[in-house]
Order: sequence, then structure tokens, then C-alpha cells
Amino acid sequence: MSDPIALITNIRSDYEASYLSALASAMPAEKVILFRQMSEEQRAHVQIAIVANPDPADVAALPRLVWVQSLWAGVEQLVTRLPAGGPPIVRMLDPEMSRTMAEAVLAWTYYLQRDMPAYVRQQRQGLWHQHAYRKPSSLTVGILGLGSLGKAAAARLGDAGFKVAGWSRSAKRLPGIQTFSNGDGLVALLRVSDIVVCLVPLTSETRGLLHTGLLGIMKPGASLINFARGPIVVTDDLLAALDSGHLSHAVLDVFDEEPLAPDSRLWQHPHVSVLPHISAPTDFETTAAVIAADIGAYRANGALPCSVDLALGY
Ligand code: NAP
Repeated sequence: MSDPIALITNIRSDYEASYLSALASAMPAEKVILFRQMSEEQRAHVQIAIVANPDPADVAALPRLVWVQSLWAGVEQLVTRLPAGGPPIVRMLDPEMSRTMAEAVLAWTYYLQRDMPAYVRQQRQGLWHQHAYRKPSSLTVGILGLGSLGKAAAARLGDAGFKVAGWSRSAKRLPGIQTFSNGDGLVALLRVSDIVVCLVPLTSETRGLLHTGLLGIMKPGASLINFARGPIVVTDDLLAALDSGHLSHAVLDVFDEEPLAPDSRLWQHPHVSVLPHISAPTDFETTAAVIAADIGAYRANGALPCSVDLALGY
């Protein structure tokens, strides 16, 4: 029997249905079947599993699995929850997601550059007060993470006239961007940035990365945008930096716990914008097209797409 492709998700049922239909349309020659609807015989032949927040036991129930394809760009849960020594994990690398994230970074950078948080507060108080205009070229935006999303955001910000700095694990040269790496590089970037955008993956090295010590190094009055993962920023330390006035605003799309708990202080904080993890939603059609191209190459010549480095965690 030919091997079917298993779709294993633990997500909203309408999202699951949309993925299934997009994958079926993108790969008419393949059989994509929900794991829970597969027979034992079908499970015994599966080589490729496409997953979003899967139960690790379901993945382990596929004895001939060659490759686990994530529907998401962030794979920290797969890296930590799937058993060691399993098949390679491939994360979602979709140019449309990079474009959407770059758009979100630019939109919220403009929000901060044009002092929108202050005008929102002033409107509530009926206060008519004009703040001095700041040109994009007078502000440095520092991006933590220069991967598929960070690089796209850096280019978009540069096109819009902002000064852009970026930090990554390995040293990089990128046109028009001041680049930094390692711990000293992070300190240097935080010292010069008016707005810091977090786009590093959540790994054992980046968990708790932005704590009191590093938030304290940021420029007085600087702002933070976290579009990566909640636990990269220590929430209590961020709140203390905002309460003290050292930082002026935080735009948060990701949290330690999602959905954000109703009693979280972040909801009502006057210097925090809370977003429900919407900065770069997955596009069902483009995601399916990326996966279909990779599966086509695998069927043609056995080539596996580039996979996650489990030692690094991303
Ligand atoms: P990526 O291509 O893997 O790039 C990760 C970047 O972070 C790379 O530049 C990497 O450095 C750098 N990095 C990793 N660990 C580091 C460390 N310890 N110190 C310094 N730099 C480090 O990832 P991506 O596709 O850009 O995605 C980034 C993250 O965005 C994802 O992991 C996910 O959590 C998040 N995300 C959020 C949303 C949302 O809607 N909120 C949507 C999609 C993704 P090197 O270049 O040297 O490897």
C-alpha cells in the first residue's frame, strides 16, 4: 500500500479543517488523513506526519516515520516533547509568513514612533497635547534574531527609513543593518536601540533572556515588541521596568501562558498593548504549497528539507 500522510493536530477544529482541505488541494496525488481517522494498517505505513501541537504518543504510534513537518515556525514544543532520537523535525518556513511578520513589525514600530500609546492615554483623559514628531531616521530599531522573520522585518524597517540593528547567534553581514552577535553584542544592541523587537526562537539559551539586568541596559524611554515567545521576556521584570518609567511601552503578542490569564496585570497596564498571538498567522494555502513542494522533492529523489538542530533547539 502507498504511504498516506498523517495530519496530527490539537488545535481549533475549524483551523484543522482548513489545513486538511488546503493540504489536499495542494497535493491531489497524496492521501492526507487525520491521524485519529487512520486504520492501524495506514498508521504502519506513514512516512510523513504534518503536525500542530500534537500528542507525542500519536507521533510515537507511527513506526515508519521519516519526517515530522511542523505547521508552525516555532518548534520549541516539538523539540522538548517529542522523544529524543526520533525522526527529523522540519519547521515551517513560508515567505508569506515572513512578509506578514515584517508587516506587523513595521505597523507596531510606527505605532510607537508616532506616540500612539500616549495619544490613546490622552484621549481617555480628554487631554489635548502634541508630542514632538520623531522621524524614522532618528530612531534605531534593534531586532533580536536575524532568521527568516528577523531578516524580513529588518529589510522592511530599513525601507521605511528606520536605522536597523540586529543580533543573532552567529555573526552576520547584512546590507544596511548594524549586526551584532554573542553576549557583548546583545548589550551593545540594547544600548543603542529605541525600539527592541524580539524574534529569536524559544530555546534553553533564550528562555528568560530579557531580565532586569538587560532591560536595565536598554535606553531610558525605549520600547519593546515581543512577537517571538512569551518566556523569552521575564514578565515581572518587564512590568517593573515599565512601572518605574525606565521603559515607555511594550507591545506583546506572546505570553508565558496563552490565552493570557484574565487576572494578568498586563491586560490593564497603561504602558502595555496586548495582542492575542496574531502578529504572523499561518496562511493555510501558502503553508500547504510549501509542504507540497517539499513532499514532491522527497517523493522524487528522497531529499529531506532542512531540519531543526536539536542541540540548538531551533
Ligand atoms: P529562525 O529562522 O530559526 O531564526 C532564528 C534567529 O534567532 C536566527 O538569526 C538565530 O541566529 C537567532 N538565535 C537563535 N538563538 C539565539 C541565541 N541564543 N542568541 C542569539 N541569537 C539567536 O526563526 P524565525 O523563522 O525567524 O522565527 C523566529 C521565532 O518567531 C520562531 O521561533 C517563533 O517562536 C516566532 N514566531 C512567532 C509568530 C507569531 O505569530 N507571534 C509567528 C511565527 C514565528 P543564527 O542566525 O545565528 O542561527
